[in-house]
Amino acid sequence: MRVFIATDLEGVGGVLLDSQVGGDSAEYQRARRLLTQEVNAAVEGALAGGASEVVVDDGHASGFNFVYEELHPRARCLMGRPRPDWLAALSEGFDAAFFIGCHAMAGTQGAVRDHTMSSASWHNMWANGRLMGEIGLWAAHAGHGGVPCVLVSGCEKACEEARSLLPEISTVATKRGVSRYAALLEPVETVRQNIREQAEKALPKAETIEPFRLASPVEIRIEFNLTGQADAVKIIPGRERIDARTIAYRGENILEVMRLL
Ligand SMILES: [Zn+2]
Repeated sequence: MRVFIATDLEGVGGVLLDSQVGGDSAEYQRARRLLTQEVNAAVEGALAGGASEVVVDDGHASGFNFVYEELHPRARCLMGRPRPDWLAALSEGFDAAFFIGCHAMAGTQGAVRDHTMSSASWHNMWANGRLMGEIGLWAAHAGHGGVPCVLVSGCEKACEEARSLLPEISTVATKRGVSRYAALLEPVETVRQNIREQAEKALPKAETIEPFRLASPVEIRIEFNLTGQADAVKIIPGRERIDARTIAYRGENILEVMRLL
């Protein structure tokens, strides 16, 4: 069984502050290690659950966050940008996906670092009429390749969001947000242990959970924060201005639409 692990940084236990999610600070270097250890826990669980091959995708920002030399020795990793498509390695064909380090969609109260793609410019996103965040976009990418997502980790609100979209999915809460930048943190070893255990238990669900597919044609609407951000979007085939802040992007499938964003 081949397992693909998509990752982000904001949902990792212990990650709260701006200084942890980018730049050159000592806190960012610590956050990279926290991410890498959660990823390793997921890899261990996948292998214990019967995975024969695991690929981990470094998804946050530059795509260069893992501490490569500290990654699990059985995991291959996809790092760096640009890439031809989001979650590019999913086109290779996998049997199950895990999403580690997820955050809730923009506008979620009580979520740690809630946003959808860009806090600076995206206010809301709908996919085929449904309000969605990055967990939904990832699930739709995996589903396009016929891959079911069986495990999500992140703050409690990210886990709730995942279960509302994919009711049978397993989740691991890494922290409970008390505001966007503050949280009640689980002990670090508890988080890793829970990820390990739930990854192992979740893997057999790949037999029964249906991949999450967006019906064709696919439309993604983005409501920007500012009218000027919508003004700056060139209207070409596949894009339509809906109102002052909103652009619709349309294509036959999720990959086509993402190339228009
Ligand atoms: Zn991120």
